[in-house]
Amino acid sequence: MSAPLVGRLAVIGAGLIGSSIARAAREKGLAGTVVVADRDPAVRARVRELGFADVVADTAADAARDADIVIACVPVGASGAVAAEVGPALKPGAILSDVGSVKAAVVEMMAPHVPAHAQLVPAHPVAGTEFSGPDAGFASLFENRWCIVTPTADADPQAVAALEALWRGMGANVETMSPQHHDLVLAITSHVPHLIAYNIVGTAEHLEHTLTSEVIKFSAGGFRDFTRIAASDPTMWRDVFLYNREAVLEMLGRFTEDLSALQRAIRYGDGDALFEHFTRTRAIRRSIIEQGQETAAPDFGRRVIKDGAAG
Ligand code: NAP
Repeated sequence: MSAPLVGRLAVIGAGLIGSSIARAAREKGLAGTVVVADRDPAVRARVRELGFADVVADTAADAARDADIVIACVPVGASGAVAAEVGPALKPGAILSDVGSVKAAVVEMMAPHVPAHAQLVPAHPVAGTEFSGPDAGFASLFENRWCIVTPTADADPQAVAALEALWRGMGANVETMSPQHHDLVLAITSHVPHLIAYNIVGTAEHLEHTLTSEVIKFSAGGFRDFTRIAASDPTMWRDVFLYNREAVLEMLGRFTEDLSALQRAIRYGDGDALFEHFTRTRAIRRSIIEQGQETAAPDFGRRVIKDGAAG
């Protein structure tokens, strides 16, 4: 059997993403030792029960000590505090990474805490579900999903290659881009769609009680897909909007303009405009299926519970 890619892998935060990384690394033999830390003693006990870590550490610093790769799997807003805690414990040549759904702000918050003898290589696996916590993770979460690695301009190519190899080992396809470009792309592909879902479900909730029950009764008409996205973790998504503010506002501006154009087409009965628009959007869905990022099953996401939206 060949040597694992990583000697000691430390995962900080045993939530959906952290526990999936630990499970994937263990299942695929990617690390000699998988260490998992979580701030909550009850979660640490649960991690021991679930058995997806070789070592459960009480603190992030304990987990990071002697680790070759440390991955912070915490909400974006907590990444600076985690970097401050693990920074002094990083050994020479160690790589500190993360999985946050926003990248420029994460680099800003984490970089000051990384000692000169270690490397910061941020990343974002574009894979997830609306579930949270250590029970929600599973080893195949990243298979055939994208992981976007966003190295800073001065990053060591060897460290970047080592992190990319780990993600490929977990089954992900890897793409590299700048943190700023990542934030713009994800604003339109993930962040604004989540905001729309949160908004439409909120609007329904504000309606009269009778209408709300009818909304639930007839939810298969489209609303149901939004409710799944709008069930995503409130802490995570609060942080996404707080820390990717500029890009989200930019994309929201464009979205609002395009929505006004559709509104106008409806008002003036412009069927050609509506038909042409819906034909173009249908083609986008087809290309997502062709690229293997979705199935063509008519009821996707329902029978296979663990297939969901990505942050
Ligand atoms: P999760 O299941 O809610 O887990 C969050 C983890 O972060 C938990 O271990 C939690 O600890 C820990 N945590 C929360 N606040 C903390 C703090 N202030 N200090 C230290 N630890 C803290 O969330 P998740 O879905 O794994 O998300 C983690 C990261 O992955 C986020 O940055 C998110 O943007 C990114 N991401 C999420 C998805 C997705 O679809 N969910 C996809 C890609 C990337 P406790 O156990 O004490 O609660």
